[in-house]
Amino acid sequence: MSLTREAIVEKLKQIVGSERVITDEKVLQKNSIDRFRKYADIHGIFTLPLPAAVVKLANTQQVSDVLAFLNKNHINCVPRTGSSATEGGLETVVANSVVLDGSELNQVINIDIENMQATAQCGVALEVLENKLRAKGYTTGHSPQSKPLAQMGGLVATRSIGQFSTLYGAIEDMVVGLEAVFPDGTVTRIKNVPRRAAGPDIRHVIIGNEGALCYITEVTVKIFKYMPENNLFYGYILDNMKTGFDILREVMVEGYRPSIARLYDAEDGSQHFTHFADGQCVLIFMAEGAKEIARATGNGIETIVARHPECKKVDSKLIETWFNNLNWGPDKVAAERVQIMKTKNMGFTTEVSGDWRSINKIYESVIHRIRNEFPHADDITMLGGHSSHSYINGTNMYFVYDYNVVDCSPQEEIDKYHNPLNKIIVEETIKLGGSMVHHHGIGKHRVHWTKDEHGSAYYILKALKEVYDPNGIMNIGTIYPIES
Ligand SMILES: Cc1cc2nc3c(=O)[nH]c(=O)nc-3n(C[C@H](O)[C@H](O)[C@H](O)COP(=O)(O)OP(=O)(O)OC[C@H]3O[C@@H](n4cnc5c(N)ncnc54)[C@H](O)[C@@H]3O)c2cc1C
Repeated sequence: MSLTREAIVEKLKQIVGSERVITDEKVLQKNSIDRFRKYADIHGIFTLPLPAAVVKLANTQQVSDVLAFLNKNHINCVPRTGSSATEGGLETVVANSVVLDGSELNQVINIDIENMQATAQCGVALEVLENKLRAKGYTTGHSPQSKPLAQMGGLVATRSIGQFSTLYGAIEDMVVGLEAVFPDGTVTRIKNVPRRAAGPDIRHVIIGNEGALCYITEVTVKIFKYMPENNLFYGYILDNMKTGFDILREVMVEGYRPSIARLYDAEDGSQHFTHFADGQCVLIFMAEGAKEIARATGNGIETIVARHPECKKVDSKLIETWFNNLNWGPDKVAAERVQIMKTKNMGFTTEVSGDWRSINKIYESVIHRIRNEFPHADDITMLGGHSSHSYINGTNMYFVYDYNVVDCSPQEEIDKYHNPLNKIIVEETIKLGGSMVHHHGIGKHRVHWTKDEHGSAYYILKALKEVYDPNGIMNIGTIYPIES
């Protein structure tokens, strides 16, 4: 027989101490959603089952003890660290779940300069680790826009990617070793070694699991020398995305690795670069690293762009100013809430990727279909996108859409605007050979997966759950029906 809500809370208090088990209703409400439901949050309407408790974990042993208890009693849990998730990964439709809050596991354990790696507990905010490293002349190279909010556990669990990814890669390229706790309470430690080649890489059962397979308690990442004095900035305006994609491709194919390589369309560009975009697309690069490398990268970029005389160079100071205001902390989140209340205007993003041949087609088809087929296209106030992570064989496209909510309850907002817009993006991308890669975790995007390659990622996760989480206690997010 399943335990009552009261019995769950009581037992949790015995395991971790009463002061670590939070049952305040307001806290539970906030913990039933993430920023996927920001409209609902702002209006204080919480329709999902409230968790039985939020447990503030103090150490790995507590994580293990709590998970073993939940597993034995088939109680669902939602792992959480920084709460900056935007894709529904912090939601569950299961009643009486327990939120496992790792934000107090917040010690930087080791900064190992000789081996160029840093170890931190899951609740260390990336900004805290990064600032400690910078003070010593090093960097993680990881810089998602949510750097002040997101914590190491969540970053690894969502396969996060940062703004300097074209040089440093995404979190999966940075993680060296990990500690994680599996549902039966087993603590697994994956060593910090430069390479392993004995079969499939065990790190990848943990990286990107979105709290569906195990609880990440500790992370070791590579570190790099921090040399901001060598940073070089380049910005250009151009009149179409195709030329921009061609330039990004040439830069990558010729072997240059700028840390920032971004291409904005006119709509998105005008939001960030009002003062110079002038209704055009914007192309941005940053070269960094050792002086000679930064210079060579910068010179290579300038040579490549010069082959496209339609690109007009802008003052590099303008790009540097943009660079200095990249991140979102609590102040911007609060300002956004006020703005949404006032205007009923909300912005969301969805990220996809495609190879060089298909990316411009994906971009054009998505924009065309939304403009022409989305039934509430008149309510859209901004529709555009940018490419921000480039690879040797292709790049990403980050669709950005703002709409005014008209005649809607918070749930209807999701059904009327949010999900149909995502559906178009996903359908069009898959049709043209691209992939969903939403770096915030794939969460809600499962709603639009088909039973092809994309759907199969869901089936792989389900299959892994049979091995690692046979009682199904780890949250798999809000699973929507898979369309055939
Ligand atoms: C303004 C803004 C900008 C953003 N920009 C970026 C960006 O540039 N790049 C990017 O990648 N993301 C970005 N995000 C998304 C978000 O910051 C990332 O997904 C981040 O990795 C989440 O970290 P977190 O600590 O806040 O995790 P949470 O929000 O707490 O959790 C995220 C997911 O990970 C799981 N999880 C959390 N902790 C653990 C754990 N210890 N063990 C197992 N599973 C766990 C949760 O169950 C959930 O599914 C942005 C978000 C916001 C609000």
